[in-house]
Amino acid sequence: MRSLQPVRGTQDLLPDAARRHRQVSETARAIAELYGFAEIETPIFEFTEVFSRPIGETSDIVTKEMYTFIDRGGDEITLRPENTAGVVRAVLSDGLVQTVPLKFFYSGPMFRYERPQKGRLRQFHQIGVELIGAAQPQADIEIIALGDRILDVLGVRGRTVLELNTLGDPESRAAYREALRAHFLGRISELSEDSRRRLERNPLRIFDSKDESDRRVSLDAPAFDDYLSSGSRDFLARVRDGLEGLGIPYRLNSRLVRGLDYYTHTAFEFVTTELGAQGTVIGGGRYDGLVEMMGGPEMPGVGWAAGIERLAMLIPEPPAPKRPVAVVPIGAAAESAALIIAEVLRHHGFAVDLGYSGNLPRRMRRADRVNARAAVLIGENEIARGVVAVRDLDSGEQNDVVSGLELGMERTDMSLSELRARLRALYD
Ligand code: ATP
Ligand code: MG
Repeated sequence: MRSLQPVRGTQDLLPDAARRHRQVSETARAIAELYGFAEIETPIFEFTEVFSRPIGETSDIVTKEMYTFIDRGGDEITLRPENTAGVVRAVLSDGLVQTVPLKFFYSGPMFRYERPQKGRLRQFHQIGVELIGAAQPQADIEIIALGDRILDVLGVRGRTVLELNTLGDPESRAAYREALRAHFLGRISELSEDSRRRLERNPLRIFDSKDESDRRVSLDAPAFDDYLSSGSRDFLARVRDGLEGLGIPYRLNSRLVRGLDYYTHTAFEFVTTELGAQGTVIGGGRYDGLVEMMGGPEMPGVGWAAGIERLAMLIPEPPAPKRPVAVVPIGAAAESAALIIAEVLRHHGFAVDLGYSGNLPRRMRRADRVNARAAVLIGENEIARGVVAVRDLDSGEQNDVVSGLELGMERTDMSLSELRARLRALYD
């Protein structure tokens, strides 16, 4: 084996980290449901063109970040770098366009070949929502409100700022693009190599650059505002009105562009200052051109995606898992009784930890390590007397309880009612 290290940019989610991730995704899923978004799950890999066409041949994702390979049948496959294209592909291949508006929630791993750092991985996880088939600004307002609400319930909204911008309609954007091209052409010597390439295809992308010099040249670029059509201007005004009506604070940021080519009108990010350069926790916007670009009818859409790792770093410690009961057999004859007692308690909703070997002290240390609330001690004498000992592991107090266990009885005949009552009293 070459190495026992995980591949660079990937990480194991040990139980504590997994619990933080689950706190993020389950909170988001539950709130998304309140807003009418149903969960969808698309494959982790797709034909490469599902991503390369809509995301754009000039984007960082397509030029540098995709995990692409030829499979054994000769097809060109890519691990999904994001999920919007996959959801739209599903909408088209499953014939869902008749039933718009569609409201979907997703959660799962994404893959990008990036330089790993805090909050930036090669396999990372996103939650996200897509609202397909609604052109009205109310749709933008609702999905932003949904993001705001999720951050609020996760306890991080107060440490984030919502930044809002418009990318306008295609006509405004075309006019702006020309103005930008002229600006950047005039200062081409100051641009990074990447941005010179962006300049040819999509100069707006230069705003998205993390290069210092690119950022400086971007500072005095012409403002989009001067090129917005009245329709685009009106759309933005209605989104702003809606947010204000809901009491959702935001900041306009005319330099905010989304990395992907298919965005129109609303672009937004929830940003925190707590994660350095990886401060964007939710990014999203309207993508009215995407469905058509992917071979479907003309159909608007709006959505966002959030990085679970970044959110998991920000949230407070999630509630601790349920404390188990440690079932501790003492002596070989007690082992099978322990298995049965553990199983019956679990059927009644107790979390039960059963060690498999070791003497009493060792098993009690394990009970301590798993933070057990109580131990059920089963010795051979106790079995003979038809009792087990229940030890309160917080107070140390110990009592015998009628076990109700007669070996050989059908499981359905055993309710262990006294034991359960005693344990329940400890948990209440
Ligand atoms: P960035 O500017 O940080 O590269 P992006 O514009 O590439 O972000 P999106 O494609 O909009 O990000 O993805 C939405 C969210 O997914 C991001 O705001 C971030 O929280 C998360 N995300 C994106 N790339 C990564 C990554 N490589 N590792 C961890 N999280 C990521
Ligand atoms: Mg990126």
